[in-house]
Amino acid sequence: MNAPAKLAAPIGILAELTHRCPLGCPYCSNPLALDPRVEELDAETWKRVFSEAAAAGVLHAHLSGGEPASRRDLVEIVAHCAKVGLYTNLITSGIGITPAVMARLSEAGLDHVQLSIQDADPVSADKIAGYAGGFARKREVAGLVTGAGLPLTVNAVIHRANVARAGAMVELAIALGARRVEVAHTQYYGWAMVNRAALLPSRAEAQAAIEEVERLRKLHEGRIVIDHVIPDYHARYPKACMGGWARRTLNVTPTGRVLPCHAAETIPGLEFWNVKEHSLAEIWASSPAFNAFRGTEWMREPCRSCPRKEIDFGGCRCQAMAMTGDPRQADPVCHLSPHHSAIEAALGNPASAGEVEYQYRRMVRVPAAAE
Ligand code: SF4
Ligand code: SF4
Repeated sequence: MNAPAKLAAPIGILAELTHRCPLGCPYCSNPLALDPRVEELDAETWKRVFSEAAAAGVLHAHLSGGEPASRRDLVEIVAHCAKVGLYTNLITSGIGITPAVMARLSEAGLDHVQLSIQDADPVSADKIAGYAGGFARKREVAGLVTGAGLPLTVNAVIHRANVARAGAMVELAIALGARRVEVAHTQYYGWAMVNRAALLPSRAEAQAAIEEVERLRKLHEGRIVIDHVIPDYHARYPKACMGGWARRTLNVTPTGRVLPCHAAETIPGLEFWNVKEHSLAEIWASSPAFNAFRGTEWMREPCRSCPRKEIDFGGCRCQAMAMTGDPRQADPVCHLSPHHSAIEAALGNPASAGEVEYQYRRMVRVPAAAE
C-alpha cells in the first residue's frame, strides 16, 4: 500500500453506464471482455454512487459507455447527478439521442455533451464506426445539442484512416457548432492494441496532422478551443496518464468495479473493489488497485531517480504492461526506457493503408489468437 498521508479528493468520476453500443470503433477504450447487460448496475445503485461521489468532493460526472443512451434510465440518472450538484457531461456516439430524449436530458439538468466523430468524410466515418448512417445521425444530434442551448464538445480520435483529415475534422466541429474539439491520437491498449497494425499512422502522417491542427488552433483562436493530445508513440517523454495514477479521477465499470483508469484491468494481479461492497470514499482511499501505483514509491529505474517523476509519473502503467509485461517499468514511450525499442519497432513497421482489416469492437470476446 502506497497511499499518501494526505489524500486529495477526486475531481471527476467517469461512469461507464453500459458497454452496449451500436458502433464498433476499432480503437474503443472499453475492455476486450465487455460487461453484459444483465450484470449492469441498476439506476438506484448508480444514484447512490453519484451521491457518494458528490459527498467525496467530486465535481464532474462524465456519463459514458459504451453508448449511455442505450440505457432507458439515462434521464433519471442525469436528473440525480444534477440534484446532487455534479456538473454532468454526456459522452455519446449520438446514436439513440432522439429529439425527445435530448429535450428530456436538457430538462433533467444535463450540463454538457461530448459527441464523437469518426472522420470528416461520411463514407470513411461509417466504415470506421462499422455503422451505416452514423455520420448523418451525428450531424443531426449536434444540432439537437446546440438547439437545446447546451455546450458541445466534439471528440475526434486520429489514426491511419483519418489522419489526413485531422484538420477537416476540426473544421467539421466548428461547422457543427462545437465550442471545443478534442483531437486525440489513438492510445494503443485494449481494442486499439488488437487493431494497432491497421490504426498506426506513419511518423510523417502523424507529424503532418499535428502541424495542421496547431495551424488551425492559431487560426481559430477565440472561436473554438482545440485540445490536442499528441500521439505518444512519436513523443520523447510520456504523458502523465490520467494526471497520475489515482490522483484525480475514478472510473466505474457497468458492473460496479472501480478502476483508476479505464484500461487498468489489463494489468494482472490488481484487486479492484466494487461499489456493491464498498463506498466510493473507501475505494478512493483504500482500494489495493488505487494504491498500487499511487505516488512514486513503486517506481523502478530510470523513473525512480528521474527529475520528471512528479511530472509524468512514469507515464502509462497499462502501456508499460502491454509492451514490457511489467507495469512497474517506465512507459516505453519514454526515450530513457530500456524498452523504448519496442515503440521504434512498431513505428518502423507500419502496414500499408488498407492492408489490414479492422476487428470491430463487439459484445463478443475476441479470439485469443487475435489479441
Ligand atoms: S469508441 Fe465507438 S464503439 Fe466505443 S463506446 Fe465509443 S462509440 Fe461505441
Ligand atoms: S524515466 Fe520515467 S519519470 Fe523519467 S521521463 Fe521517462 S517515464 Fe518519465
